Amino acid sequence: MIISDERSAPEKSTSLNTLPLALILMGPPGAGKGTHSPHLSAYLQIPHISTGDLFRDHTRRQTDIGKQVKSLIDHGKLVPDHIVSEMVFQRIFMQDCQNGVLLDGFPRTSAQAQALDHKIQETHRLLVIQLNVSSSTLIERISGRLSCKCGKSYNKTYDLPQKENECNSCHGVLYQRSDDTKEVFQKRLEIYVQETEPVIEHYRKQKNLFEVDGNLSKEEVLSQILKRLK
Ligand code: ADP
Ligand code: ZN
Repeated sequence: MIISDERSAPEKSTSLNTLPLALILMGPPGAGKGTHSPHLSAYLQIPHISTGDLFRDHTRRQTDIGKQVKSLIDHGKLVPDHIVSEMVFQRIFMQDCQNGVLLDGFPRTSAQAQALDHKIQETHRLLVIQLNVSSSTLIERISGRLSCKCGKSYNKTYDLPQKENECNSCHGVLYQRSDDTKEVFQKRLEIYVQETEPVIEHYRKQKNLFEVDGNLSKEEVLSQILKRLK
C-alpha cells in the first residue's frame, strides 16, 4: 500500500451554487442601502463595498480619483463608468472578498451592469435586491440625513444619535453630505430614473431580481431581505 501525504486538489466545481455570492443592493438615493448593508455584510460574512463611501474617502484623502470626482458628486452627477468599474473590479478580487461581496451603489448604469456581468460571469453567482421607496419618503430621509465617515447615518427628526452630532459607533463628528440638499437630491433622483432604472429591468429579465418594500421600518425591511436570501 502506498501512503502519501499529498492530498489531491479539490475538484474544480462549475456548479453555480458553489460560487461566491455577488449580492447587489439597489434602490434610489435614500432607499436604505447604507443602512442595511452593514447588517447584511455581517450576516453573510462578506465585505460591504459602497462606491459612494469609497469616493467620499478618496475625496477626503484628496487622491487623484478624489479630485476627479468631487465636483461631479457635489452636483449629483454620476462618475464616469470606467473610473467606477475599475475601482470596483480591483476591490472585488481582493483576498478578503473570496467568499463573496455585497455591492452598494454599483452598478448604476447599463454599461456598468454589462461590464460586471462580463467580469464575474464565471466567478460569482449574482443576486439583486431592489429596495422600492416612494419619493416623499426619500426626500424626508435625505433632507434630514446626518452622515458619518464610517458609513453610518442618522436622521435629524426620527433617528438621532445618542450624543448630539456624534456617531454612536465610531464617535466621529456627524455632517450633512454636500449632495444631500433638496436641489442635488432632485438631480440624483432624475439620474436614477434615467440611468439606473434600466439596470433594474436588465436584472429582472435575467431573473436575478428580488424586490422589497423599502418604505417599511428598518427591522421589517431587513427581515424581508433575509427571508429572500434564505
Ligand atoms: P446615494 O445616497 O445616492 O445612493 P452614494 O453614496 O451611493 O449615494 O453615491 C454618492 C455619489 O457617488 C453619487 O451621486 C455619484 O456621484 C457617485 N457614485 C457612486 N456610485 C456610482 C456609480 N456606480 N457610478 C457613478 N457614480 C457613482
Ligand atoms: Zn461613525
